[in-house]
Amino acid sequence: MRTGIFTRLSGIFALAALEIPLFTGELLARAGGAGGGDGGSGYSGGGNGVDYGIDTYRGYAPSGHFNFSVIVIAIFLLAILYSIFSVVAKFRKGSNDNAFGEPMPDAAPDIRIDNDAGIPGAPPGFDRSAFLTKVRKAFNDVQMAWCEQNSDLMRRFISDGVYQRFSTQFKMMRLLRQTNLLSGINISMLWVDRIEQDGQYDIVHAGIKASMTDRFSCALNHELDEEGKSEFVEYWSFICKHGAAGRDMYDTEQCPNCGAPLPKDIGEVCQCKYCNATINSGEFDWVLAEITQQDDYRRDGNHAEKYAGLDAKVDEMEALYGDFCVQLVEDKASNAWMQMMTSKAMHDPAIMRRFVTDELFRQLAPQYEKNREIFNRLFLNRVTLINAEKKENKNRLTFAITCSYQRAELTGNSVRLLDQEIVEREEIMTLTRDASAGAGKGSIYQHNCSSCGAPVKDTLDIKCSFCGSTLNSTANDWIVSALLSRSAFMAS
Ligand SMILES: [Zn+2]
Ligand SMILES: [Zn+2]
Repeated sequence: MRTGIFTRLSGIFALAALEIPLFTGELLARAGGAGGGDGGSGYSGGGNGVDYGIDTYRGYAPSGHFNFSVIVIAIFLLAILYSIFSVVAKFRKGSNDNAFGEPMPDAAPDIRIDNDAGIPGAPPGFDRSAFLTKVRKAFNDVQMAWCEQNSDLMRRFISDGVYQRFSTQFKMMRLLRQTNLLSGINISMLWVDRIEQDGQYDIVHAGIKASMTDRFSCALNHELDEEGKSEFVEYWSFICKHGAAGRDMYDTEQCPNCGAPLPKDIGEVCQCKYCNATINSGEFDWVLAEITQQDDYRRDGNHAEKYAGLDAKVDEMEALYGDFCVQLVEDKASNAWMQMMTSKAMHDPAIMRRFVTDELFRQLAPQYEKNREIFNRLFLNRVTLINAEKKENKNRLTFAITCSYQRAELTGNSVRLLDQEIVEREEIMTLTRDASAGAGKGSIYQHNCSSCGAPVKDTLDIKCSFCGSTLNSTANDWIVSALLSRSAFMAS
């Protein structure tokens, strides 16, 4: 998506107030994240899914009243700018692609996967239409959860990383007293795009072409209000353990393991309190693990930055840990990154304490405590495992992270933007785990102790109050040992 330019323009000229259909299709916000940028220009938000990230930029404009001459001048200026940017955009792309957005498919790519076909990579017994019914339900429930800023409706079928992306965004929106209502949600195409195997898991990527109208409002500063209609393509990735699909988690609110009713507000720890089963582990049904915008999804096909020998290393880790899967460690990296950004925005180092090493904590805590910037927009566009290496009996995973954000400052009841547009940034995150570590009983990313499974709160105390084990120990789980900007990483 290349809406940055137009987001700014429409903001400057307040054209949305005229209800002129701007360059529709590229301007809006929605749950699920907006697409990545095209390499630096403009902005692009995105949820990586879930992103969650959530896509929330749009090309709206402040509401207000305009007299006729302002309207005429605005139309005139917009027409001029439109022609300038058409030329620039075409020139930049050097192709005859639509200069303002990703090409939209007219029809689902040839159905690569039929219920009865031997599809490359399809798990035995894969039922395409039953799967797509779940995707449709997930898509609608996620949009509804987004409008309500409440994860309850979707918690049971989303991964912890996806949950955290939403949760961070909801916290920021509440701080800034923002709402984002979606209406006219319509899925025009839905297809299975690709199936792959990852450790003991199957991953199915579903393509969704949809449109909706969204209305964004900031009670603290109505200049940030935006409204518009968009059409977009997103890829929703679902994960499930080999041979595990067969229970339904979409049309029921009961535990897929024991049948007990699940609480309405599951929260961080996605566990049945009767049988202790982790509901969203992929042991029971398809779990939404990522939402990727069309152009980011294409860029995912570019593996150039992955280090040589990564595949062999991944095979080694699968043999070593049993529960290892690239999608799941990327989910932990997303989760950690989102919680670190929450920690920074809320200037509360306790939020990240349990999953960063002592050394990294010492380095970041003073900065985060002092920080007074929060995020008007925060999207995690992509998280990709690029390297795995063993050093001194510890395995280290390196992830390339692409995020986009727009910072704001909240003073009393007033919000001021610090970035006039959404900025894209690349970071490198390292997670470390002992080579001798076994599979944990819980996950610090879910707010429970990975040694005994007991619940833990956001706290600076890193000893589990039940079993006394160290929460940020690399003996039990993957712990964040470094977070650097890409340029600092390259220089190191
Ligand atoms: Zn249960
Ligand atoms: Zn414990």
